[in-house]
Amino acid sequence: MVCIYCGGSTRVTNSRSQKRSNATWRRRSCEKCSAVCTTIEVIDLSTAIIVTGSKRPSPFSRDKLLVSIYDSCKHQKDAQTSATLLTDTIIKHLYPLIEDASVSSRTIRDITLKTLGRFDTVAGVHYGAYHPVKA
Ligand SMILES: [Zn+2]
Repeated sequence: MVCIYCGGSTRVTNSRSQKRSNATWRRRSCEKCSAVCTTIEVIDLSTAIIVTGSKRPSPFSRDKLLVSIYDSCKHQKDAQTSATLLTDTIIKHLYPLIEDASVSSRTIRDITLKTLGRFDTVAGVHYGAYHPVKA
């Protein structure tokens, strides 16, 4: 990885696996200017998981989920932070439900609705109204 300060090569000086977020945290040090930075390695869900059950199967989009949660949290003072943290929580709950690298849109909806409802009733009701169960 390239240093963000000088463009030199970096080396990993510390690394930790984060089970809760299914990520790997790494501290890096520049071999040229000795600057230190942190990287977080996560699975690229858009290349790994297919969403099934609505229209055609499509790649999972964290951004699409984030936007729908943000829309439901707009009434909060710090909607952006809430939506980001809620998205991470929902994805964490989705991991064990992924089978054969796919997850249904219904499962995403149900987990999102449950998580949002626990966090903020208004956000849960808003999300449910805009994401009805399709027959
Ligand atoms: Zn550097």
